[in-house]
Amino acid sequence: MNVLVINAGSSSLKYQLLDVDTREVYAKGNCERIGIDGSFIGHEEMGGDKQKLVVELPDHKTAMKYVNEILSKLGKTVDGIGHRVVQGGWYFPESKVVTDETLGWVREVAPLAPLHNYAEADVIEMCRDLYPGIGNVIVADSAFHYSIPERAHRYALPRDVVDKLHIRKYGAHGTSHRFIWRAVDEFTNHTAHKLVSCHLGSGASLCAIEDGKDMDTTMGLTPLDGLIMGTRCGTVDPATVFYLQRVGGYSIDEIDNMMNKQSGLFAVSGVSSDSRDIEDGAAKGDKNCQMALDMFSYRTAQLFCEMAEAMHGVDTMAFSAGIGENSSAMRAGVCRELEWLGVKIDEEKNNVRSGEVRDISAPDSKIRVLIVPTDEEYMIALDVKELLG
Ligand code: AMP
Repeated sequence: MNVLVINAGSSSLKYQLLDVDTREVYAKGNCERIGIDGSFIGHEEMGGDKQKLVVELPDHKTAMKYVNEILSKLGKTVDGIGHRVVQGGWYFPESKVVTDETLGWVREVAPLAPLHNYAEADVIEMCRDLYPGIGNVIVADSAFHYSIPERAHRYALPRDVVDKLHIRKYGAHGTSHRFIWRAVDEFTNHTAHKLVSCHLGSGASLCAIEDGKDMDTTMGLTPLDGLIMGTRCGTVDPATVFYLQRVGGYSIDEIDNMMNKQSGLFAVSGVSSDSRDIEDGAAKGDKNCQMALDMFSYRTAQLFCEMAEAMHGVDTMAFSAGIGENSSAMRAGVCRELEWLGVKIDEEKNNVRSGEVRDISAPDSKIRVLIVPTDEEYMIALDVKELLG
């Protein structure tokens, strides 16, 4: 079964066409700078070169039209379409087939993720027109986290406010954490029971997963909470917002922009949001870069302990996403912080580069440490097959 996976961001639209049975990817790409000057599509066919198509992309619907045109030249069928939706709110504890009703729900919960959900709903609508008779499936990033117990997902705010505005911990990266659990379960031959999944990319979150059930996660009402990220500040005292507004004179929109786009590793290092640049800077003796790395390791280890509390224990940790899969220095930094807990890695194994799931624990480590390349697109395609196949 060939599945087209669509991942629409606030100004981007990623796509991938794959055979879910063989896991062969036929083509993938990204429409970038949608609605901004200088938009283009980066397209890649397996076995071929990367192409850059400079086209005007005023909105997501236009981008989807181009994607359809490009993919139709491949001569492959599209048997089902999977859409990553950032915020499923209270409507998507699991993936659902697109109908007028479910598409309406994506728009209804959009105020919780306005930059993403409206664009995603537009793209779903467009796909129904472009691929008549082909089923579409909504895979919400928040779905996996819906099983988190109330003591962990509830905010201690007045009940009427919480109920009226649907305030709770929704989390994000759920599809990635679900994939990571699946890969860990398979790799360890079902011997992992209490997993802390560490999705460390430009966005970053941890998730406590006990026997496949999500028990807690570090992102909250929105993906701003929890870890320090590329440009997001992660958890700060909520009163910082009042202080910035009252004393600093910043507007709410300016604070939103500051906390989401000008903070995190970028702000601390003063150099870049990319951990590669920060590691280079630290190696050359830049103290701010070193502080960014130290803060990232410290916060990751600290939140690791929070996740362990959610399961009253931990037997396995998994590093994943851009930083988790590629940065041996960051993995070593996090594990050094956790040495007191009995976490030990084998330095040599930690330095090997590979695209496979692998175990980097030292033989006497009390917690098994794995690297798991995540594959959200494949996870989405599996859901499409289950619901439509
Ligand atoms: P993601 O959001 O999962 O695509 O991760 C993107 C981030 O991963 C980048 O911003 C980099 O900070 C980081 N990254 C990617 N490759 C490497 C690498 N080889 N070494 C260190 N960090 C990397």
